[in-house]
Amino acid sequence: MNLILLGPPGAGKGTQAKRLVERFGLAHVSTGDILRAAIKSGSELGQKAKGYMDRGELVPDDLVVGIIRERIGQPDCAKGFVLDGFPRTVPQAEALDGMLSAASCRLDRVVALEVSDQAVLERNTKRRSCPTCGATYHLVNAPPKKAGVCDRDATPLVHRPDDQPEAILKRMEEYRQKTAPLKDFYRKVGLLREIDGSGAQDDVARALDRQLEG
Ligand code: ADP
Repeated sequence: MNLILLGPPGAGKGTQAKRLVERFGLAHVSTGDILRAAIKSGSELGQKAKGYMDRGELVPDDLVVGIIRERIGQPDCAKGFVLDGFPRTVPQAEALDGMLSAASCRLDRVVALEVSDQAVLERNTKRRSCPTCGATYHLVNAPPKKAGVCDRDATPLVHRPDDQPEAILKRMEEYRQKTAPLKDFYRKVGLLREIDGSGAQDDVARALDRQLEG
């Protein structure tokens, strides 16, 4: 099974992707996590991406397409993958089509998580992330067991620079202009399924499973 999760920042793509990975043994491909790891390691890719990310802008297509080309060629992706945060533009989706057909591979579903602007703002403002393992928490709805540190590895949690109010508004705008048109792109080829992403994590998970089974 090869899937794409679409949705605005903070829609819950990462949370749901991690659950699908556990449940179906899929490879989790998160461009956001890969880019943050590149920044942390100080690589050339990280240095190129950092400014865009901190401002809440999309990183140029050629950089992320290169990341994905390399990542989905790795052996663990052969058993199926869930793309979280890619594609985010129509040119990225076209590049993905090309890569998949060259590998005689296809997409099975594209699931869009629908969340209101107000919820997006609230979730990103209250999101805290683990810089070591990428786990995310919500200060109110899904707090860590011990305040301020990651449940898994006890790393102090951070408020990502792109989760600051100005960058959040920019990310929402980027989503509206560049990513939301992907819904039409995948609707036309019959792959799109839309679900309500505004409920509790388990409710969203159930709605997602229904779309994958049906
Ligand atoms: P969220 O889904 O909460 O917005 P991500 O971790 O997926 O967060 O992405 C964080 C940032 O990484 C984006 O705002 C953007 O700068 C960059 N990024 C991630 N994926 C892509 C992509 N496919 N194309 C361009 N930029 C990307």
